[in-house]
Order: sequence, then structure tokens, then C-alpha cells
Amino acid sequence: AAAAAAPPKLILDLEALHHLDAGEAGPLTRYAATIQAQRGDYNGKVLSIRQDDMRTLAVIYDESPTTLTERFISWGVLNPEAKGDVEESAE
Ligand code: C2E
Ligand code: C2E
Ligand code: C2E
Repeated sequence: AAAAAAPPKLILDLEALHHLDAGEAGPLTRYAATIQAQRGDYNGKVLSIRQDDMRTLAVIYDESPTTLTERFISWGVLNPEAKGDVEESAE
């Protein structure tokens, strides 16, 4: 399980998030808002999130973490470097 290097960070683009259709993006928008509130971090244009948060979001969206990561990247709300990150530790 030990990685040779730190995995790339998962970074949400909050401005892009707020321009998305509320139906699909709603759960992610509420999750990000909750993290911001817990941290007291309201001024950022981006929000770094935990690896575990992608797993939680995958349960919420009923997708695999890999599929959900690719979808968030395609929406423009997650940095492309995050691709392939979340499930690599399973190998
Ligand atoms: P906590 O998990 O008990 O973390 C307490 C404090 O430890 C955090 O206070 C933060 O200063 C530090 N900390 C813990 N893990 C990390 C980390 O991976 N990176 C950094 N930079 N600092 C870390 P903070 O930020 O005020 O957060 C308060 C509480 O809000 C956290 O308590 C946690 O319950 C929740 N929270 C904040 N951000 C996140 C997040 O991205 N995901 C989740 N699932 N919960 C979060
Ligand atoms: P970085 O992680 O590459 O982040 C670059 C910049 O993106 C940050 O500059 C900040 O403007 C923004 N940013 C990234 N994640 C967040 C977020 O969750 N919330 C907000 N509001 N902004 C975010 P900044 O703040 O000048 O930090 C420069 C560098 O300092 C960071 O580069 C990172 O390497 C380090 N750093 C800052 N805060 C922390 C921290 O809490 N934990 C750790 N481990 N490093 C930190
Ligand atoms: P980061 O602060 O650069 O932390 C990178 C990784 O170091 C984290 O990945 C986590 O595996 C580990 N780490 C850092 N601080 C702590 C800690 O206090 N306790 C534990 N158990 N591990 C720690 P992770 O969890 O995927 O988080 C990725 C990034 O999300 C963090 O980068 C930070 O920018 C942000 N983040 C996560 N949780 C919190 C939090 O509670 N508060 C704040 N302010 N930022 C957080």
C-alpha cells in the first residue's frame, strides 16, 4: 500500500462547479459547501479534498470512484491530474 510518491491532489474548481446544472451537480455542490463550512474556508476559487471524499461521493452518486472521477473531470470541476488516482491503491 505504500506509494513511492504522494498521489496528485484532488482539487475542485468551485467557480466551474457553480455554473453546472443543479440537478446533476447538486450533491457535489452541497458536499463541497459542507467541507468549506467545516474548515471555515469560504474565499477560495478551489478546494482541495481528501481521497476518502471521492469514495464517499462515489457512494452518493452510485458510481465507481474511477467513473465518478472521470465524470467530474469532464464537467471541468476536477483537475485532470486526479484521473486514475483514487483506485490505484487497490493494486
Ligand atoms: P478533523 O478530521 O479532526 O481534522 C482536524 C484538523 O486537522 C483540521 O481542521 C485540519 O487543520 C487538520 N487536518 C486533518 N487532515 C488534514 C489534511 O489532510 N490536510 C490538512 N491540510 N489538514 C488536515 P479543519 O481544517 O478546521 O477541519 C475541521 C474538521 O472539518 C475536520 O476535523 C473534519 O472533520 C472536517 N473536514 C475538513 N475538511 C474536510 C475534508 O476535506 N473532508 C472531510 N471528510 N472532512 C473535512
Ligand atoms: P497548493 O496546494 O498547490 O495550492 C496552491 C494554491 O491553490 C493555494 O495557495 C491556494 O490559493 C489554492 N488552494 C488549494 N487548495 C485550496 C483549498 O482547499 N482552499 C483554498 N481556499 N485555496 C486552496 P496558498 O494558499 O498560497 O498555498 C501555497 C502552497 O502552500 C500550497 O500549494 C501548499 O503546497 C502549501 N499549503 C498551503 N496550505 C496548506 C495546508 O493547509 N496544508 C499543506 N500540506 N500545504 C499547504
Ligand atoms: P495536504 O494537506 O497536502 O495533505 C496530503 C495528505 O497527507 C492527505 O491526503 C493525508 O493523506 C495526509 N495528511 C495531511 N494531514 C493529515 C492529518 O492531519 N491527519 C492525517 N491522518 N493525514 C494527514 P488527503 O487526505 O487525500 O487530503 C488531500 C488534501 O485535501 C490535503 O492536502 C488538504 O489540502 C486537503 N484537506 C484534507 N482534509 C483537510 C482538512 O481537514 N482540513 C483542511 N484545511 N484541508 C484538508
